[in-house]
Amino acid sequence: MQAGGAARFVPGEMALVLDPTGKRYLICLADQDTLHHHLGTVQHADIIGQLDGARVRSSQGRVFTVVRPRLIDAILEMPRKSGIVYPKDAAHLLAWADVAPGQRVLESGVGSGALTLALLRAVGERGQVIGYEVRSDFLELALSNVHAQANPRPTNLLLREHDIYTGIPDQDFDRVVLDLPEPWRVVPHVRAALKPGGWLAAYTPSIVQAGHLVETVRATGRFVQIETNEVLLRGWHIQGQAVRPEHEMVGHTGFVNVARLVGEL
Ligand code: SAH
Repeated sequence: MQAGGAARFVPGEMALVLDPTGKRYLICLADQDTLHHHLGTVQHADIIGQLDGARVRSSQGRVFTVVRPRLIDAILEMPRKSGIVYPKDAAHLLAWADVAPGQRVLESGVGSGALTLALLRAVGERGQVIGYEVRSDFLELALSNVHAQANPRPTNLLLREHDIYTGIPDQDFDRVVLDLPEPWRVVPHVRAALKPGGWLAAYTPSIVQAGHLVETVRATGRFVQIETNEVLLRGWHIQGQAVRPEHEMVGHTGFVNVARLVGEL
């Protein structure tokens, strides 16, 4: 994934430029390019070769700051054709499904690859993410989004064009993570593909989907710790006497459902 803080900015890398007021601009560094801003232009060439957190001057002498984007900054900006799992929900899913370094994770559908990037970060280089997706155009988009963020390119991601409702050809997963219209159709296959003690996680935009999934999971008699959560995130504006919640917040994204497979009696 992203190089550590000691590495210098190189061409082709994403950089987050903060103007003197803190406004953010995500750019892809290229030797000849320029960021145009009303407080002056910033040459990419002045950023390339600098360390994370570097201060550079615009053509008007104003100070801009350049940092490596957080994964969530990059995910929110990347091209998408599908709905994505937003960072607040992805973070919750990773924690509640206990996704950890070294695990082998199955993800379906892959969509734009937003959740794929979060999963790759969580499992680390020793882990593996296998993604099933029915649409080849989504596979291409997800792969290009992953490659844009992950340098060097991850060798532990395997994407397959496959309809997961028909079955799970791979096995021995520590986690199965779903973002599909009908996740309950995967439950019969999950029992063979997921290791006992492993977690199933499913993101569902609608509570009707969540209900159907949870009842299907419960009816198998093979899952425990069945939990459904909604994450409400409220940012706060803190400046002098003006200390208050942000005026606007995201009203709804979806529900995160998790359940844990156990052995047969
Ligand atoms: N979590 C993704 C978004 C997934 S959108 C992200 O964060 O970017 C849902 C995806 O599921 C779509 O790309 C859709 O093509 C795919 N999909 C739908 N049914 C499927 C199936 N039966 N098997 C595999 N993928 C499927």
